[in-house]
Amino acid sequence: MSPASVRPQPRQMLKRLRDVMAGPGSAQERLEQVVTVIAADMVAEVCSVYIRRAGELLELFATEGLNPEAVHRTRLRIGEGLVGDIAAHARPLALADAQAHPQFAYRPETGEEVYASLMGVPILRSGKVLGVLAVQNRTRRQYTEEEAEHLETIAMVLAELVATGELIKPAEMLSTEGNAMLPSRLEGVKINGGLAIGQAVLHQRQVVIRRVVAEDAEEELLRFRTALAGMQSAIARMIDAVDSDIDAGEHRDILESYRMFAEDRGWIGRIAEAIRTGLTAEAAVQKVQNDTRARMNQITDPYLRERLLDLDDLAMRLLQHLSGEPDLLVDLPPNDVVLIARSMGPAELLDYDRASLRALLLEEGSVTSHVAIVARALDIPVIGRVSGIVARVESGDQIVVDGDNGLVMVRPGEDVLEHFAAAMGARKQQKAGYAALRDLPARTKDGVDVGLLLNAGMLADLTHVEETGAAGIGLYRTEIPFMIRSAYPDMQSQVEIYARALERAGDRPVVFRTLDVGGDKRLPYFSYDDDENPAMGWRAMRISIDRPAMLRQQLRAMIRAAAGRPLSVMFPMVAEVAEIDVARAVLDMEMTREAAAGRPLPQPLSVGVMIEVPSLYWQLDQVLRRVDFLSVGSNDLLQFFFASDRGSPLLADRYDCLAPAMLCFLRGIVEKADAAGKPITVCGEMAGRPLDAMALLALGFRRLSMNPAGIGPVKSMVRSLDLAQAQEYILTLLHQPDHSLRRKLRSFAKDYGVIL
Ligand code: PEP
Ligand code: MG
Repeated sequence: MSPASVRPQPRQMLKRLRDVMAGPGSAQERLEQVVTVIAADMVAEVCSVYIRRAGELLELFATEGLNPEAVHRTRLRIGEGLVGDIAAHARPLALADAQAHPQFAYRPETGEEVYASLMGVPILRSGKVLGVLAVQNRTRRQYTEEEAEHLETIAMVLAELVATGELIKPAEMLSTEGNAMLPSRLEGVKINGGLAIGQAVLHQRQVVIRRVVAEDAEEELLRFRTALAGMQSAIARMIDAVDSDIDAGEHRDILESYRMFAEDRGWIGRIAEAIRTGLTAEAAVQKVQNDTRARMNQITDPYLRERLLDLDDLAMRLLQHLSGEPDLLVDLPPNDVVLIARSMGPAELLDYDRASLRALLLEEGSVTSHVAIVARALDIPVIGRVSGIVARVESGDQIVVDGDNGLVMVRPGEDVLEHFAAAMGARKQQKAGYAALRDLPARTKDGVDVGLLLNAGMLADLTHVEETGAAGIGLYRTEIPFMIRSAYPDMQSQVEIYARALERAGDRPVVFRTLDVGGDKRLPYFSYDDDENPAMGWRAMRISIDRPAMLRQQLRAMIRAAAGRPLSVMFPMVAEVAEIDVARAVLDMEMTREAAAGRPLPQPLSVGVMIEVPSLYWQLDQVLRRVDFLSVGSNDLLQFFFASDRGSPLLADRYDCLAPAMLCFLRGIVEKADAAGKPITVCGEMAGRPLDAMALLALGFRRLSMNPAGIGPVKSMVRSLDLAQAQEYILTLLHQPDHSLRRKLRSFAKDYGVIL
């Protein structure tokens, strides 16, 4: 049977706690009183405080209800037991039957076996876990959300007592003690490749909160509103002043969506609500930030997770405004800096002086995060999900970053440093070598010209057209500008996006792919029913056909952006001819409409489709009669060909695009396109890998579209290749039973001096 839930009385409780904490006695004695007060307030038989110690340990510092002998004796590792789990994930847990939880770890010295239910919250300060506050009940009590919120607020007050250093000296809490001087190696997920060596700078805009409990809620609300207005206008100024050395348009878009968060009513309302419970404005902002972090741990939608990071950044900024120190620019040491953060919003990165930034390492963050997009445009290596990095690195530590392999070496030994310095030197030379190839033709040794094109999605990607000497944009993924906005871009914004892309490309062609959303590419402002199997679900053309207004608007914007110039439009994920006819009809209608309005029509207009769904192969004759060009999306084609999810880490290396069956299939496609005299490109990832690109050329493809980093290596391969020889060789292999021809093709390249 559960006891009735408690209706928390936050304001009175906070005042009581503050009185106890400011009262007489040692810090330990006051903490003991605190747990008694909390246990009574929460109607719990047990209230315990665990504080973090060096060596990733949590030590029981005070308890009401558990065996007093266990105090300062019971220690748990971070991640061990329920208390350790709360600390590891910095999130609350409320369990009616705690002992049934798989993480439950029983400590006999505490005598806790008689308590069935447990609710615990992290004691957080400036984003760091200082400890855990837990209550327990004998009965299987169902703690309410309101009670959990209340306990979190109490934990905030408690954090202040811990942070005074009276209970435990800050040095004793350092988690790096013992191994601080030893080298260590951490792994994360590659977000942007590249190598870097530099000095660690921990991104901690710490604002110390000195007052947690407020005297006068109205006064706090006023302070909050003033600081909020100050922050909002500072962001507006930042948007106005955004500099143009990367790409003003795009940064503006990212910052605009950030500004929308700064004006988000839900967020503002939650902070105001927390102030009304008796917290100061600073503590309320911090509390909402803590809640946000706790929620973030449970959210799987990558888009939402990233947006919560933006909110985190805003909270920090708001705290700075409340503290009266809203200075946003951060000085870095002048030398090579490896910036380390738990997470970061895009605006925060732009606060740093980019001349000294060499790499960015994040405990959180993914490829689609806004900060990653900005960092990529800055062209620095970025590694995400480097677990524990904030705790294990001290500012000033030397760090080696291998962005390509998602590796971080902290305080590396001399040998590692030497090895990396040499690798960086070689990489620099190689880059210089590729740059020297820029103006040379992509022509094989036997005189066959190959079109090397770029894949782009951000305007910043287009800066690489000049730099790499690419022949044009073979794939412009229009969904990317849609994904980085927080609202559907209206017609005019779309016209601007496409016109900017055309201008950046100059007289080189740009192939605009219509929206390929759905699957893992979700637009936050568009509602989907959950597909069981999103990659094969309602995505791309299927959405365009069912929501023709979106397609119509996009095509109209492309026609207007072209304004009499050439325009290439490509439809993704086409599975049958009828879909081409529907899309084409929409396009024709828009052309007629624009002509009737007296607007200039694109000259010429080319229409193509992507081959990503195998069914299209058997309809190619019909398809080729309807289109001006084809493009093979080998990423999707491979996953559908082998029925193997392209996003699954378990299947990542299972099937190879250089398998004979796949190569036969590709050969069949290129033969049909050639016979119809229609250009065909490969624009999946394989086009940018020299060995795979060699195979594609040998199969008959002459146009390859890839990421900017691929152009140099692929061009170098092309210029060293005798295509006739490669062609002859690959045709002998197409019907072999091999799992993959990768090894044989690599030997061929080696024997014939093809540079890979
Ligand atoms: C592909 O599928 O190969 C492709 C280029 O499209 P995307 O990677 O955007 O799905
Ligand atoms: Mg695709």
